[in-house]
Amino acid sequence: MSKTSSQAITCKAVVCWGEGEPLKIEEIQVEPPKSTEVRVKMLYASLCHTDILCCKAFPGPLFPRVLGHEGVGVVESVGDEVKEVKEGDVVIPTYVGECEECENCRSGRSNLCLKHPLTLHGLMLDNTSRMSIRGQDLYHLFSCSTWSEYMVIDVNYVIKIDDQNNIPLSHASFLSCGFSTGFGGAWKEFNVERGSTVAVFGLGAVGLGAISGARIQGADKIIGIDKNPFKKDKGEAFGMTDFINPEESKDKSASELVKEITGGTGVDYSFECSGVPSLLSEALEATKLGIGKALSIGVGNNASVPVSVLSLCCGRTLKGTVFGGIKPKSDLPILLQKCKNKEFELDELLTHQVELEDTNRAIELLKQQDCVKVLIKISSID
Ligand SMILES: [Zn+2]
Ligand SMILES: [Zn+2]
Repeated sequence: MSKTSSQAITCKAVVCWGEGEPLKIEEIQVEPPKSTEVRVKMLYASLCHTDILCCKAFPGPLFPRVLGHEGVGVVESVGDEVKEVKEGDVVIPTYVGECEECENCRSGRSNLCLKHPLTLHGLMLDNTSRMSIRGQDLYHLFSCSTWSEYMVIDVNYVIKIDDQNNIPLSHASFLSCGFSTGFGGAWKEFNVERGSTVAVFGLGAVGLGAISGARIQGADKIIGIDKNPFKKDKGEAFGMTDFINPEESKDKSASELVKEITGGTGVDYSFECSGVPSLLSEALEATKLGIGKALSIGVGNNASVPVSVLSLCCGRTLKGTVFGGIKPKSDLPILLQKCKNKEFELDELLTHQVELEDTNRAIELLKQQDCVKVLIKISSID
């Protein structure tokens, strides 16, 4: 592979050619970075449910596409205007930017930068692609495409892991989406108060992040809801205090079960992390009358889902989020430091590891009951 920063690199990547088609390992070309961009040699990536949704044409049929949005890599080359990072820096690619100047960045109320937005069109900010296969352009996944030996990203979407935040690369990869999204939900979106009660629907990496965030915020009671009994131990490892397996009480709804163990009132905050359409309304109804707040984090394949108007009318709040409200520049370094301080133990998430060539198997592994996170090893720092 060429190390010359001004030339295209030919390398391996995971390509999805169409809805429902098996993923293929292909030789692709990755162009050099333009002036504000960096080219990153990926070291590790991981699997998040959104990748699987993208294989199913979410939020639109953008094929062929290089998948992956979680990962960590090392900067291979930089564009001529890039000052923030240099060749050899270890970085986390993100899918939201932070300009620190636009209305949303200045508001203190949103992480959705207007200048460096979440991109859903599968291209760079200038509406072109940096990846191609046999002359045909490939779509990126958001601003990232981490299941590739090399990828190009605008520098506003990378966070450098400096020496003081030196953490295991697997942890860095896990913090680039799922876990952080849940954690940020409790921390940044709802700023859960000490002593409050919390319910978390779906104990994948996002749900475990929400549990961890709620515990560090000082919540008293943290109820995890999942039909997979394996998740009970995982929830407890991050601070869950109560576990509900709805399969064991099929005559009652999940919100009724939450109310049963909260003296009939429901919780202050709930987090819907499963993406199961019927659970969004349950998560809302499981919160307290008048003051309860529910956060929709899980994304399913449905364009819209039903929500009980009565639950909403009774003074509850329903909010949505991207990346748990976490601002990459302002907040992600704080989360890296918490990880370094072992305020949560991310080894608990790592249940399986595969090589880039075996990414199809990784998708199968994710369906297993004992799977939380699949780490994809791509290359080593040389
Ligand atoms: Zn901004
Ligand atoms: Zn994700």
